[in-house]
Amino acid sequence: MERFGKSFTQQEPISEAGITRAVEVLRSGRLHRYNVDPGETGSVAALERAFADYIGQPYCLAVTSGGQAMQIALRAAGIGPGDRVLTNAFTLAPVPGAIALVGAVPVLVETTDQLRPDLADLESKAYGAGAKALLLSNMRGHLPDMAAVTAICARHDLILIEDCAHTMGATWKGRSSGTFGLAGCFSTQTYKHMNSGEGGLLVASDAGFMARATMLSGSYMMYARHGAGPADADFDSAKYQMPNGSARMDAVRAAILLDQIASMPDRIKRWNALYQAAAVGFATIPGVTLPRRPQEEGFVGSSIQFLVGPDWTPGRCRAFIAACAARGVELKWFGAAAPHGFTSRFDHWRFAPQAPLPRTSAVLARLFDMRLPLTFTPADCTLIAQIIAEETAHATEAA
Ligand SMILES: *Cc1c(COP(=O)(O)O)cnc(C)c1O
Repeated sequence: MERFGKSFTQQEPISEAGITRAVEVLRSGRLHRYNVDPGETGSVAALERAFADYIGQPYCLAVTSGGQAMQIALRAAGIGPGDRVLTNAFTLAPVPGAIALVGAVPVLVETTDQLRPDLADLESKAYGAGAKALLLSNMRGHLPDMAAVTAICARHDLILIEDCAHTMGATWKGRSSGTFGLAGCFSTQTYKHMNSGEGGLLVASDAGFMARATMLSGSYMMYARHGAGPADADFDSAKYQMPNGSARMDAVRAAILLDQIASMPDRIKRWNALYQAAAVGFATIPGVTLPRRPQEEGFVGSSIQFLVGPDWTPGRCRAFIAACAARGVELKWFGAAAPHGFTSRFDHWRFAPQAPLPRTSAVLARLFDMRLPLTFTPADCTLIAQIIAEETAHATEAA
């Protein structure tokens, strides 16, 4: 039986241009973002300008992680102790984590079998919970109907903050993910769409909000050295009001990231070719379904998800994962009883109020997930789909 030999966690190397730029920063000894000569634009400021232009927002702030971008956004939006913040039940732990870390209370919204938030549940919880904000997590790159989401936010006076860790470069009706609400939060951690090991980017168009966020990120009085920040006058109040949270990005990471923005369109094409090859293979497997990709959505296929039938027991799911793993295909499963690796489920986040989410539980019990790193080829994805097809059939026979 054929075995797949590549690693699901192996990203591409940093480009030679990025390496050269990072080495220049190292040789200069000036690694701190504010350690620049008079009139010089450091790599962090250059990155902020380039990313703001790429996304199409006036302001961008570079920080230490996507999680920090979310925490800073929530605080700068005025969210604090006891406030209720809605978010998707299907997401990654740092999302409810960001809400809890500002002292607010995560209120989890049901997820549909299309892996998007259930908008009826969102609306009823917006009203019932007296929520102040929605931290919308575009988990695994699946965008909900953004016109419907923004209408719900308007009706219920909800502040919208977008978690775009998996939608950097994605669009809804041609508009960049991360530009639909008060703020968009991005991650440049190794497994996302740009890679600096760790890092985060926050974009917005509201000057007062961005001034508060900048102070929170630990700008001291150096905010004029930012690349895409508000005017000095916008800091008049924020500079006295906001605590300094020391979450600045350093010059080495920014140097590594700078030319990754220019190569995003090309890499998006390559991710989508991988997704397409995998999706074509999965489409032929009986009982396996893929979430639909609405035509309004310009997605980035850096991972793929599929659902098996409701008849699959947990035992059969576990046997299937083990059989795929034995053939080199690493699947994540959201139905496991205990958290594992990067994967955890809403009922594992005991720092948040626990409430049953039957619809989400039913979806996650039969949901599998796979990374598609750019070190794979479309032929690799075809082979992976073939292995999954064979093991799905075996799992059926075994059951
Ligand atoms: C990775 C991730 C984050 C957090 O990003 P970090 O940079 O690792 O803090 C937030 N949301 C989702 C959905 C993620 O996958």
